[in-house]
Amino acid sequence: MSDKRRLQLLANGQEKFFPERITLPTPFPVGPVNVYLLPSRPLTLVDTGPDTPEARSVLTAALNKAGFAPRDIEQVLVTHAHSDHSGLAAWFREMGAEVLLHPMEAEKLSGLDFWPVLIDNLRRLGVPDKLLTAYSLPRREAYRGGCLTDCRLLQDGDLLNFSSFRLSVLAVPGHCGGHLAFYQEESGVLLAGDALLKRISPNPMPEVHPAKPGERSGSLAQYLATLDRLGKLAFKLALTGHGEALEEPAQRISEIKNHHRQRLQYIREMVRDCGPCTAFELAGRLYGRLSGWDVLLAVSEVSAHLDWLTGHDALAETTASGGRLTYNIIK
Ligand SMILES: [Zn+2]
Repeated sequence: MSDKRRLQLLANGQEKFFPERITLPTPFPVGPVNVYLLPSRPLTLVDTGPDTPEARSVLTAALNKAGFAPRDIEQVLVTHAHSDHSGLAAWFREMGAEVLLHPMEAEKLSGLDFWPVLIDNLRRLGVPDKLLTAYSLPRREAYRGGCLTDCRLLQDGDLLNFSSFRLSVLAVPGHCGGHLAFYQEESGVLLAGDALLKRISPNPMPEVHPAKPGERSGSLAQYLATLDRLGKLAFKLALTGHGEALEEPAQRISEIKNHHRQRLQYIREMVRDCGPCTAFELAGRLYGRLSGWDVLLAVSEVSAHLDWLTGHDALAETTASGGRLTYNIIK
């Protein structure tokens, strides 16, 4: 479609739901991230990519190619606050766009410092201090997504109106506590963020909060409930935060559920063999030697499964010396 034709359609409110995928580089192990341009009114971007010069320049070029400039974006929908998805939201906010996201994710981008409680949680999960120091110093800045204020907060069930379609807001917690997806019912298309991915299983990262030190969210239980809910939605296509679109979402949902069922069983067996043991020790057994980002990712994945097993009375969690948590089999 020519840019002129597109602008005409935009002006007339006739543009149908046709998200354009823009793939941006990230400095994170996950690789490139997808953001989606919704060429409608309000002109909308779903996720923004990370706040790096490379992402900014690729995004600007892609918007230009579609006939727009970054300052034309009127609205940014943020699926979740991880910096590969939300890093440039503050930049668009500065240029006048409205930023919409879940309150839990807005809080993460508000300048509140989650880092000390995140590091304390990793220490309790058995990550050695030496590894934490090496991990913490260079990563702290990369983890921050900038300070974003004055956002519009969204809840499950909200409806977003565009000139020629509307989106339903779905709360899909698990990968993040305030993760949102956006559903266009008539076309059966779900803008899924990281709630569903084609090639990798989204990490159900347990979350911690500065006001509640020592507590973790039951992220895997949340995520399994999200998968049940998405399974019932019967959508046709998921546009995902990384990689290609999912054309058979039902099949992928059951694959991811099976993955977690198997992993729960495997981790329980590992605890039977080596308990009492820490999440870090189990992550080492599962993934080998860990360093850098992999410490957070692997320990989070294992800890989410340990929390589920503890919550279902299959394992006991005990606070050992130095405040480290150890796990033992119950039944
Ligand atoms: Zn992501």
